[in-house]
Amino acid sequence: MRGLMMDRPLLISQIIEYAASNFPDQEVVSQTVEGELHRYTYRDAARRSRQLAHALGQLGVQRSDRVATVAWNTYRHLELYYATSGTGAICHTINPRLPADQFIYMINHAQDKYIFVDLTFVPLLEKLKDQLPGVAGFVILTDRAHMPETQLPNVHCYEELIAEHPTEFHWPDLDETTASSLCYTSGTTGNPKGVLYSHRSTVLHSFFVLSVPGLGMDEESAMLPVVPMFHVNAWGVPYFGPMVGAKLVFPGPRLDGESLANLMNQEGVTDAWGVPTVWLGLLKHMRSAGERFRTLKQVLIGGSAAPRAMLQEFKERFDVEGLQGWGMTEMSPIGTVSLVRPKDRDRPASEQLDIKCKQGRAVFGVDMKIVDDQGNPLPHDGEAFGELLVRGPAILSGYYENPEANAKAFDAEGWFRTGDVSRIDREGYMEIVDRTKDVIKSGGEWISSIDLENAAVGHPEIAEAAVIAAAHPKWDERPLLVCVRESGSSVDKDGVLAYLSDHVAKWWLPDDVVFVEELPHSATGKLQKAKLREEFKGYTLPTA
Ligand code: AMP
Repeated sequence: MRGLMMDRPLLISQIIEYAASNFPDQEVVSQTVEGELHRYTYRDAARRSRQLAHALGQLGVQRSDRVATVAWNTYRHLELYYATSGTGAICHTINPRLPADQFIYMINHAQDKYIFVDLTFVPLLEKLKDQLPGVAGFVILTDRAHMPETQLPNVHCYEELIAEHPTEFHWPDLDETTASSLCYTSGTTGNPKGVLYSHRSTVLHSFFVLSVPGLGMDEESAMLPVVPMFHVNAWGVPYFGPMVGAKLVFPGPRLDGESLANLMNQEGVTDAWGVPTVWLGLLKHMRSAGERFRTLKQVLIGGSAAPRAMLQEFKERFDVEGLQGWGMTEMSPIGTVSLVRPKDRDRPASEQLDIKCKQGRAVFGVDMKIVDDQGNPLPHDGEAFGELLVRGPAILSGYYENPEANAKAFDAEGWFRTGDVSRIDREGYMEIVDRTKDVIKSGGEWISSIDLENAAVGHPEIAEAAVIAAAHPKWDERPLLVCVRESGSSVDKDGVLAYLSDHVAKWWLPDDVVFVEELPHSATGKLQKAKLREEFKGYTLPTA
């Protein structure tokens, strides 16, 4: 028997319309590429999104057409999110920091019809335009006064494009499973793979995140996504923020510690979301400038493991709750959040920190299982670890136009293989032990490169650390620690090893420590271990 409830679709256009009706005066503040701080309201955002919806029609953009954005986090990018998806087109956000060959591959693979581009990236597109034969035209995200001289063909000025159109638009009643946005995830090998979200998955993901107990996002929140809008839709902030009427604060191109700190304090930011690298820069600035956060309450740290020292510094020095989130582009992206539950809040600070160092408990809508090498389920006892598999309505069922990748990505029951190795304890806390590719296999036992890195950055004179496997004649693989010193420090190998021996098992101690000026990072700020492994290929350990 079917339930007798209305079969109304869940649509992205409903979010901006809801915000405009229920929080019309709530602010959206953006650091623009042109330099000024721009400020308007959800009422304005909805009006301009509707104007843009008309403009897309004028450009000939039809349902299912892909519209690319190469842009920073600003109000115009927000309008693009809503206008493209709302009209049934697909918003393809592109990471401009990817290598040129991947950038070209994504645009051609997605068959993007138009590209909306920020001033910063116009030279990049001019350089690559001849390799993008399918693109019909470009729209530069600025006003007439700032339009550059450009060799881009069929180019429009964003403000002129939308200005003449009515501020009313009838959003179509799409099927909720209609594709809404597209984001490519770049692995360490091969071409990027497209993850195609739907209206339903996007709206559900917003509900799931908002339901995380204790996250407490509402009309009094001012949310700053440092995580780019080209990195899994800024983890959903531009969708769930408007749903609860939160103020949105977009940092545009200014992502250095000082600019972020000023913007946060000026605009009363309460919640900020981003990867660890960004917070390293921010904390360094706060320390050296001797500043305080006036309003910041929570930072969500995700994309890579949140170092213990970072969580501790946020809490103890700045009275800011650092929360860890784990997820993947394939998961919309949030899978788990690590929050200290009310029953644990009286425990000593170091035990609460232990909890926050885990990747956290599943958000509603995400099922998790861990399996051994043969695919047999392992117990959730906090001891056993194996590959983590997930399923849920905001998790992909297949990569976009990529049968090869799809053949390997799922188990027989349709669960998605995350490629992460993890433990799950009896309370449901998941803890990443490593990536399946990064774990160090020493004499048949596994050593977690992540745990070692976290321990190493706990040393006050180590700014950043990476651990990779180096070949060993007896043990197959042994850990090699590659690290960056804090400026002015002269800490040496013995100093680091002495420190580590208090924090990890003896047999986990790296067989060598190498100091470098900097470590390689991917376009989304993650450590590029594959690159590092390449650099240290053939490295002879002193113990070998
Ligand atoms: P991406 O899709 O590019 O965001 O990458 C997803 C991958 O990043 C995951 O499979 C993890 O390996 C890693 N990751 C994301 N969040 C965390 C976290 N909190 N701790 C450790 N690894 C993480």
